Amino acid sequence: MIGLKVEDYCQNCIDFDPEKEVIAKRYMKSKDEECLTLVTCKNADKCRRLIKYLKKKIE
Ligand code: SF4
Repeated sequence: MIGLKVEDYCQNCIDFDPEKEVIAKRYMKSKDEECLTLVTCKNADKCRRLIKYLKKKIE
């Protein structure tokens, strides 16, 4: 499965810089593998901290 993981405030952002994160799950008995690929933004942590800071400022 491939998913896009972005916040609401990311819509229409011109600085979106995609990166992928692949999470593999292996099942012991069957040896099958299931992969979850998430596309996120490289700036996600920075923007999350900025939003948190700005919310505190306006409280
Ligand atoms: S995380 Fe920041 S830079 Fe990335 S798309 Fe969202 S708002 Fe834009």
